Amino acid sequence: MPRAKKPVPKKKAVRVGYVALVGRPNVGKSTLLNTLLGQKIAIISDKPQTTRISILGIKTTEKGQIIFIDNPGIHKPLHSLNKRMMRFVYSSLETANLICLLIDATQRYGHGDEFVLETLKRVTTPLFLLINKVDIVRKDTILPMIDKYKDLLPFKEIIPISALKGINLGVLEERIYENLPEAEKLFSDDEISDQSERFLLSEIIREKLLNHVEEELPFVTAVYIEKIEKRGAEGQAGGEAEEGQGKEGEGEFMIAGESAAKKEEKVQEAGGAESGAEAGAEAGALGETSEETEKQRKRYLPITYIRASIFVEKDNHRKIIIGRHGSLIKTIGTEARREIQDILETKVYLDLQVKVREKWRDSPDVLDLIEGQK
Ligand code: GDP
Ligand code: MG
Repeated sequence: MPRAKKPVPKKKAVRVGYVALVGRPNVGKSTLLNTLLGQKIAIISDKPQTTRISILGIKTTEKGQIIFIDNPGIHKPLHSLNKRMMRFVYSSLETANLICLLIDATQRYGHGDEFVLETLKRVTTPLFLLINKVDIVRKDTILPMIDKYKDLLPFKEIIPISALKGINLGVLEERIYENLPEAEKLFSDDEISDQSERFLLSEIIREKLLNHVEEELPFVTAVYIEKIEKRGAEGQAGGEAEEGQGKEGEGEFMIAGESAAKKEEKVQEAGGAESGAEAGAEAGALGETSEETEKQRKRYLPITYIRASIFVEKDNHRKIIIGRHGSLIKTIGTEARREIQDILETKVYLDLQVKVREKWRDSPDVLDLIEGQK
């Protein structure tokens, strides 16, 4: 009699696909991404242009793999920067197996929304409408919104959610899986994003900056990481350095033309004296404890040295960001360093410099450099 063979389980079919998160600026796309992933991978703020480059957030469960694409807000582009931002949106609409349009339940329908609908009109991909921020509106405002939108585009689902409070996100995830094809996973189970550490660090610095500036400043600031150097603990040799890809001379970066180069001198001066290296003083203070063992542990933590430039367009922008006697740049630096320390699990020395690059939003060199960080 032949030996009985064990049945080989058929590979379980899973659902896999790309889900584009789109909508006007500030509707909560990045907040939704972070809550769905249970981890902060995208920065959040109530200022415009918080998200400028699309990033992937990958969620793998036993049901399959959803690859979310977080996007810049849909808006009419004026500068080269904005055209590039919108290119990310268009390309994600092409990639996606499913599109989630987010709207803000606290905002009235307006021109911006019309532009969004215009952008989505030609799309044939299945579409969900997510009415976000329902945690802060009266329930009776939601029904009229559903009524308004249901005839504007052929939505497969309309789901009221709160990205911040996690309301209805279980339902959302179920509906998403129902609309994805059966396929092999595209990423390994432990992959969560496609962004580099370098890009995440630059974004964290930008988030802290956005938290402290008003008016046109969010539009005219960009962050570029010039150098990341990982060193052994104090007194230990070794470590590795990662430089930016720009032309570096005398520790300074030259991207723009002559007029900007002149400003450079001034900025450098300010960089040293005002904006300067705030982190050193606090670098040892990872939290207060009298425990000798804790002190010992910290002494042997490796150190990461990070040098970053904040680009602005005018000298008065630079002055605002530096603040009185360097107070604002110091606050931004301290907040960014604390968060970066938690991520890298090392001590961090953060050196921030504010540099004037006239019209950088229309300069392909600078835009390439900033995008290249991802
Ligand atoms: P994005 O520009 O669409 O990516 O929007 P963000 O995720 O950066 O969020 C913009 C602002 O809306 C931030 O201040 C968030 O805290 C806030 N926000 C996002 N989702 C919610 C929500 O569900 N409820 C409330 N109350 N606020 C939210
Ligand atoms: Mg965003």
